[in-house]
Parts: sequence; C-alpha cells; structure tokens
Amino acid sequence: MGVDKIKRKLTRSIHVGGLIIGGSAPVVIQSMTSTDTSDVGKTREQIFKLAEAGCELIRVAIPDENAVKALKKLVAGSPVPLVADIHFDARLAYMAIENGAAKIRINPGNIGGTGKLLELAGMADKYKVPIRIGVNAGSLNKKILQKYGGPYSAALVESALAYLEVLEADGFSNFVVSLKSSDVYTTISAYRLFSEKRDYPLHIGITEAGTIQTGIIKGAIGTGTLLAEGIGDTIRISLTASPVEEVITARCILQSLGLRIFGPELIACPTCGRCTVDLINLANSAEQLLKNYSIPIKVAVMGCAVNGPGEAKEADIGICAGKKRGMLFKHGKVVKTVKQEKLLEVLKEELDNETGRYNRQKKQGGPK
Ligand code: SF4
Repeated sequence: MGVDKIKRKLTRSIHVGGLIIGGSAPVVIQSMTSTDTSDVGKTREQIFKLAEAGCELIRVAIPDENAVKALKKLVAGSPVPLVADIHFDARLAYMAIENGAAKIRINPGNIGGTGKLLELAGMADKYKVPIRIGVNAGSLNKKILQKYGGPYSAALVESALAYLEVLEADGFSNFVVSLKSSDVYTTISAYRLFSEKRDYPLHIGITEAGTIQTGIIKGAIGTGTLLAEGIGDTIRISLTASPVEEVITARCILQSLGLRIFGPELIACPTCGRCTVDLINLANSAEQLLKNYSIPIKVAVMGCAVNGPGEAKEADIGICAGKKRGMLFKHGKVVKTVKQEKLLEVLKEELDNETGRYNRQKKQGGPK
C-alpha cells in the first residue's frame, strides 16, 4: 500500500563524533542524563541504559570542574558521542572540549559575552567540535524582549541570528541551532521562521514539557508538527521522567511519521461493542512480542472477526479475535483460524517467517 513520505528540508550536515546531523542523515535521537555527572559510575550506567534504548547522542550537564573531569572518564568507553551542556562558565566549555566532548551545548546569552563566545568558537574550530547554539525563551535579553513585547517566536529567531552573525563573521559555522520555548506553538513558529532564514541543522524539542503524559503530548505535537513539515535534524523529547522514556517517545514519534523504522508498527483497533475478548490485554501482549523483532512491517491486532481484517487491510499481518476462535490475516485476507488462546503463538510464528523472508531478501539485495 502506498503512503506519502515527508520531504525533509535540506540542511547543512555536521559531524558529532561518529554521527552526522543534518543533510540527508536520519533524524538523530538524543537525551540527557539525569544523574550527577561527577558520579561516573551512576552516569555511565545511565548512558548505557539510554544507548540500549536507542539513544544516539547523550548530553551531560557540566556545572563544575568535578563534572568536566568526570566527562573525560565518561567519554572513554561511551557507546555514543557525549555532548557537554554548559552555562555561565566558558572555561568549563574549553575544558570539556579538551576532555573529549563531541559537541558543546551553550546558551550564548549566559556564557560571558562576545569575547568568551568567540574564544570558545576558536577552540571548537581547532578541535572540530560543533556547538549547539541553544536559544531559550526563558533567557532572552531585555532589549529583544522589549522590542517584541515578550518571548515570541520572532524574538527567539532574532536572538539566535544575532549570535550566529557574530560567529559567522568570525568564520565559524559548525553549528546546530535550537529555539526552545515551553509553549508548543511558539516553538513551532520559531523553527518555521528560522528554517526560512538559515540552513543550519536544527535540534528540535519542547523544553520543560512536563511529566510523562502531558510531556509526551506536548513533545509529540511540537516535534511531530515540525518533522511533518520536514523541519528538524535531531530530536530531544523533554520529560520530567526517566530519560529512557524520552528515547522511547522519540523513536515512536519518528516511526509514526515514517522517518525512521525501528521495528514492526502496531495497529490496534480501539474496540467497541462487537469485541468479545480482552483486547487491551491482547494488544499489550502483542506489543511486547513485537519488541523482539526489527523488521519494517505493520502488525494489526483487531477486536472482531467481522470487521477486523477489512479495517486493517494496510497491515502486513494481523490477528483478530472472535467468539472462542481467532484469525490470522494478511493484507486483509484471512489465512488461518485458530483457538483464541493460540493467537499470539500464530502471530509469533508468522513474525518469525516474515523475519526469515526479510533477511533472505536483504541478502539478495532486496529491502534495505
Ligand atoms: Fe469494533 Fe471490530 Fe472495529 Fe474493533 S475491529 S473497532 S471490535 S468493529
């Protein structure tokens, strides 16, 4: 079945450790550790958990010298590149570059003035380390706030451009840019506006989005809208929760938009009065099962034998539950009828068959 694809806006590409952000590279998933960075053991443990969940770039807070010393140890053996997050003290940024940070995230408004900013850019240039210019609605300068009457999108963009122009004039352009607000629509508007003016790669996200439910919704609306318009080269979903949840959410957003495929996509009906089984339980069990597979297919779990297969025609394979019995179907056509309690078993068999088929095709140069 044909589906429309998002056309991404072409940005410049930059190298962050072994990763590429921007250009035609896939949208990179990032998150941030929540441990005390100077506690190397705990921070390393979280870095590995995040990487295992699919995080490709991890930011660590560098509030002091102990943290920047710990960064050196964390970089050694980290499964993914590490980004140093620095505020107020440019000296820590210089040290972080020397200690192996793959990227530096600063808010240029609080790093100590233009001189310090240029000095940092000079050092980043020497070490080929990119800088994220992270403009935040909460820390815009007074002049810009007065001009626009508040931290509106145009104020965020003007602020970012002012810093970029200072650095560009000095010959530095190894940037990623972010323009964050906790207000979803302001953030969307800011990135739209910026992407019309410059082609630097964009780190997108809604800052301080909140606890897990509201945070996921705000993050999905904000980043999802931008990504659907082709804007965004790296994504961080900010949640007041375990950072692993941020990674799970980011993967889900990217896969929902067809920008990255990490494994089978679950389609499940919402159930209705025709459903005679505990479909929530069945769908959750199927979702757990799907986590063991990485093939790019759609799998449906439907609540009734009458409408299920037809409603989920676009699914590659699916199961639907009827009274006591259930069906396995492919592309809307029923291929097997089994006892209801055997549904997950036949789904697993079919997933194994599909995986074998997919791998054989891949070996022969088929689906990538
Ligand atoms: Fe209702 Fe069946 Fe449709 Fe599910 S598949 S919503 S149970 S009609």
